[in-house]
Amino acid sequence: LSSLLKDPSLLCTKAYVAGQWVGADDGTTFPVTNPARGDVICEVPNLGRAEVARAIAAAEVAMKEWAARTGKERAGVLRKWFDLMMANQDDLGKILTAEMGKPLAEAKGEVAYGASYVEWFAEEAKRVYGETIPGHQRDKRITVIKQPIGVVGSITPWNFPNAMIARKVAPALAAGCGFVARPASETPLSALAMAVLAERAGVPGGLFSVCTSKRASDIGKEFCENHAVKKLTFTGSTEVGRILLRQAAEQVMKCSMELGGNAPFIVFDDADLDAAVAGAMVSKFRNNGQTCVCANRIYVQAGVYDAFSKKLAEAVAKTTVGDGLSEEVNFGPLISEDAVEKVEEHIADALKKGAKIEMGGKRHALGGTFFEPTIMTGITPEMVISHEETFGPLAPLFKFETEEEVIALANNTIFGLASYFYARDIGRITRVQEALEYGMVGVNTGLISTEVAPFGGVKQSGLGREGSRHGMEDYLEMKYICLSV
Ligand code: ADP
Repeated sequence: LSSLLKDPSLLCTKAYVAGQWVGADDGTTFPVTNPARGDVICEVPNLGRAEVARAIAAAEVAMKEWAARTGKERAGVLRKWFDLMMANQDDLGKILTAEMGKPLAEAKGEVAYGASYVEWFAEEAKRVYGETIPGHQRDKRITVIKQPIGVVGSITPWNFPNAMIARKVAPALAAGCGFVARPASETPLSALAMAVLAERAGVPGGLFSVCTSKRASDIGKEFCENHAVKKLTFTGSTEVGRILLRQAAEQVMKCSMELGGNAPFIVFDDADLDAAVAGAMVSKFRNNGQTCVCANRIYVQAGVYDAFSKKLAEAVAKTTVGDGLSEEVNFGPLISEDAVEKVEEHIADALKKGAKIEMGGKRHALGGTFFEPTIMTGITPEMVISHEETFGPLAPLFKFETEEEVIALANNTIFGLASYFYARDIGRITRVQEALEYGMVGVNTGLISTEVAPFGGVKQSGLGREGSRHGMEDYLEMKYICLSV
């Protein structure tokens, strides 16, 4: 991999703790593998609680001076970091593809997307406004100020190795917080490369650490039990989110949680079918179906069901599966054998309950964790896929008759992250967008993520929002000051 990089120093095999590039105290490491080839890229340190505690202590010290800077001063450093991320977009993309598997074009897109949060929150750093409130008595003056919450612990998944961290660290640093990241053990290299650039941009030593580790639950405990940590930010499954919320309760710690989804994608009779197919392609198959906002259940109204499934199959037939580093590839491998097995289980369950495979349905001839993009029809609510996230390239098509029926079906889940629908009737659009119990609704679009909007879920999909001016609030505390004059 390093021979493919313009700047090989972006490929790190040390962790970044308290401003130093270090190994684990006990000298242990773990391998990072390339899911497209199954070979080991390199080994990185397997840190434990002691090293993470040092990172937290350093962040607590560093953030004092950092928080005392003006918003504009912090913005300047973040802006430099953004510029460096964009200047190194190719290399960051290659590192990301190598460790995670997504096609290079998508990986570079993710780097730009991650960087956009750094740019956005650099700008927001200057706009942390407070409030003045007319006093409740003649001699009282009331003001509200916003202050950084404190040291932030972060745990992130492998599906967006750059952007999931960028979305958290950018508002945290903009607000004046210190930040300790524990990237997924599958994808630590993108996080380390970001740390190299942060250091070059002038982020003070110790303010931002990247603690690579296989011992996720130990690190989670350190974040929750260490009194210097004031906030936990997590992206991952609802299951692990629940564990962390329980642990965080001990210190009554503020938590931001971006958890699982089970996104409905609804195509009404009056939809522009070609646009709906294009939207389904990006919403379902982006990152090979491995995003928490991927369409998981595709509901198609009876009148257009056959036409839609035919057009979707035609679009899928034009795609190419392979190693993400080669230009023409649209779908890379899945992240792991477990991920492949989950897709297989969802397919087997649906087949047993009467569904039909229209396309794909099995492991790809390339072997490893490659899987054929799959379309299934005749899907019903009894099938596992209607209540669990597949996280793979499986498009299940449900048939429905009425607007009322599909809204009930779409909302019948514990999840409430992203949802999508295609329609043209303005009355219907208004009714459906208001009725969907989701934090995000894409209307006539399958792609909704942007740094300028608040990303997040309702119900068991999470707490808090990332991006937009609201994203800053998760890293700020409000202080009300009552002055008697
Ligand atoms: P995914 O299926 O996306 O990996 P998980 O919720 O299993 O979702 O994992 C998300 C992140 O949380 C990963 O970095 C993982 O290592 C970490 N993790 C898993 N279990 C725990 C735990 N008990 N405490 C803290 N972090 C955990």
